[in-house]
Amino acid sequence: MSTGRCLCGAVTYEVAGPLRQVIVCHCVDCRHWHGRGAAMTCAHRDRVTIRGEESLRWYCTPDGPERGFCARCGSSLFWVAPRRPTISIPAGTLDDQRRLRAVAHIFCEQEEPYDRDHPDGLARFPRGAPPEVAAPPAD
Ligand SMILES: [Zn+2]
Ligand SMILES: [Zn+2]
Repeated sequence: MSTGRCLCGAVTYEVAGPLRQVIVCHCVDCRHWHGRGAAMTCAHRDRVTIRGEESLRWYCTPDGPERGFCARCGSSLFWVAPRRPTISIPAGTLDDQRRLRAVAHIFCEQEEPYDRDHPDGLARFPRGAPPEVAAPPAD
């Protein structure tokens, strides 16, 4: 069980089940949404319980994915895409991040210069990650 919250605590969530390791997304949308590349974990939607939904708002991007945020404090919280069984969660909103490690950078073709110097040796993909990298682990 993992838990997390927005900055003000109006929206909280629980994940019952494994979290995927962190993928850093450098796409233009994430940059505008988070201010820079976004360090995201992910889980199956049916394993995630969200509380404080009265404070949760969804912004639907023109190409389909929806981004959930706290209307009270503005924290970026969730990313869901049509037909995907998963929900992506910014790793920084978890209460305990000690078990998570970054494994890849994606959408590197849209990366800004100040985000480009990664001496971390991780896999880098010009666009999305292949399924074996993107999917949350089985139980
Ligand atoms: Zn909040
Ligand atoms: Zn992105």
